[in-house]
Amino acid sequence: MFHCDQCGECCRHLPALEIYEALHDGDGVCRYLSENLCTIYESRPLMCRVDEAYEKIFSASMTREEYYKLNETACEKLKRRI
Ligand code: SF4
Ligand code: SF4
Repeated sequence: MFHCDQCGECCRHLPALEIYEALHDGDGVCRYLSENLCTIYESRPLMCRVDEAYEKIFSASMTREEYYKLNETACEKLKRRI
């Protein structure tokens, strides 16, 4: 399972992509984030579920190790912005 330390940075810096539009008001901050916790955790969208997204989408194009590495790199970049 992907290790997430719940820093909340990815939920505060959503990419400007159509698939994230329903989650924020144009500022990139998810409206469902509250004090670093997801208030819709059990029903959060697939793009917020790292392991499930791998199984359903990315497993066809890369290994789990490669996918985790890409995610970890993205997390580190977000954290360095703090
Ligand atoms: S940026 Fe990475 S470590 Fe932080 S909450 Fe998002 S997935 Fe978890
Ligand atoms: S739905 Fe939850 S996990 Fe997804 S970006 Fe919003 S707060 Fe984060």
